[in-house]
Amino acid sequence: MTEQQQSAGASKVVLAGKVLDTDEVAVQRAVRRARTRGATLLLTLLVVGLVAVFVTSFWISRNASGETGLGFFLLLAALLFIMVYFGNNYWQWRVLQAFDMRCPHCGEALVGPFRWTKRPGYACPHCGKDALATARQLGEG
Ligand SMILES: [Zn+2]
Repeated sequence: MTEQQQSAGASKVVLAGKVLDTDEVAVQRAVRRARTRGATLLLTLLVVGLVAVFVTSFWISRNASGETGLGFFLLLAALLFIMVYFGNNYWQWRVLQAFDMRCPHCGEALVGPFRWTKRPGYACPHCGKDALATARQLGEG
């Protein structure tokens, strides 16, 4: 945190020209934390999973054949990446839903149609203005 932000006390969070009030900032921070926590957890799972898959495929290549081991590794590694990717997308939508996140500009719910293939963006799907504060805007990044 910079000196400027510290001297301002609770630093102001501005989204597309609108200064958020304390409650709105609190929700933004909670959502931000929940999003980050989910992403970190999934990333940890990915790393642990990859290590486990690697060890298993190494064992297979010793006891069966190298090709089988490699095939096993590639298949499971790809599966892991897909699971983490979709799992993260799902989590990001779930967080917005759980907090009943609303656009600070137009008041519409930010959770639109749920999409597995895409994470929710920072902009409001209704008015197009920035609706989710980034870590930097919240003075955390
Ligand atoms: Zn909006």
